[in-house]
Amino acid sequence: MVIDVADPDRSVLIEAGRIIRAGGLVAFPTETVYGLGAHALDPEATERIFAAKGRPSTDPLIVHIAAAAQARDLSSRWPDVADRLIEQFWPGPLTLVVAKSPVVPDSITANRSTVALRIPAHRVALGLLESAGVPVAAPSANRFGRISPTSADDVESELQGRYDLLLDAGATTLGVESTVLDLTGETPVLLRPGGVSADLIRSIVGDLKVLKRQTTSEADDALAPGQFLRHYSPLTPLVAVDGEAPIATDLVDALTRRGINAGYLELSQDPGTAAHDLYRVLRSGDGTAQVLLVRMVPSHGLGVAVNDRLYRASQGRVVADASDSTADMIESLVGGQGTSSTQ
Ligand code: AMP
Ligand code: MG
Repeated sequence: MVIDVADPDRSVLIEAGRIIRAGGLVAFPTETVYGLGAHALDPEATERIFAAKGRPSTDPLIVHIAAAAQARDLSSRWPDVADRLIEQFWPGPLTLVVAKSPVVPDSITANRSTVALRIPAHRVALGLLESAGVPVAAPSANRFGRISPTSADDVESELQGRYDLLLDAGATTLGVESTVLDLTGETPVLLRPGGVSADLIRSIVGDLKVLKRQTTSEADDALAPGQFLRHYSPLTPLVAVDGEAPIATDLVDALTRRGINAGYLELSQDPGTAAHDLYRVLRSGDGTAQVLLVRMVPSHGLGVAVNDRLYRASQGRVVADASDSTADMIESLVGGQGTSSTQ
């Protein structure tokens, strides 16, 4: 259902809220990506999210709320630093992990004692949350491991009707997911880079630990669930180029000479523009070539989140030169073993 982001139709929001309270699934836009929402305190409803996405039950969901008071109700310990952060960044792309209250079902937190909370900065998302009147668990509205959706068409092509209502408010503005920050220890830990940069968070919290990028194919459950190596992935194998444009174009030429259909995905080197365009560009290239190449972006501001996504979308295949051995490695991916399988 089409809904105007500047002036969302009340009757549509009321119907969407009713569906959530009744245990249904509503796909909805946020400023980051489209989410697939369900009543967070109703385990049967959230079970439907995992089923629709094909998401493993070990990967916890972010709970979306309309007001900060709800966040305190859903947590058993609310640190002072959280108040300073939310004053600055909520509504917005910052997710806070805090100790959970017993009212939060274990199934959405993957049996952890913590819960991830956020207020999205999007009129339709906020309208839905207010109308539902309950916290809404919502991961990105894509099949597990796939490219995140930044438009209603993306949601439809990912989930093919596995929801009760889809709210279409056009393309998302930010384009990458929220930053996930763990506040349960002495020092805040950045678990996932996202819409709010580490530097901005540091300016509020002082000391900040940044979780090192995990490179195992399974999430290391000890600290950061859901940080799988393979994530945000096109079905066509992707290779990320960490270097100047000629490296990427030389590689495409070398692969073409070997008879390989290699596609080059143009992504802006401006971090904000790259974040906005990232998933659309990955999606538009998917299936158009035997292998896709894309350049990483400068690692500041939103560039850190973009490069994290490119690293995972390419399953860690980052190259820095156009040598024969690099071309050999890419050639071995094509028609090769297990790189283009679907999940
Ligand atoms: P998604 O909504 O699909 O972008 O994924 C949500 C992500 O938030 C998960 O994959 C985790 O990385 C993170 N997350 C959610 N809940 C928790 C939690 N309790 N502790 C740590 N990370 C969490
Ligand atoms: Mg996701």
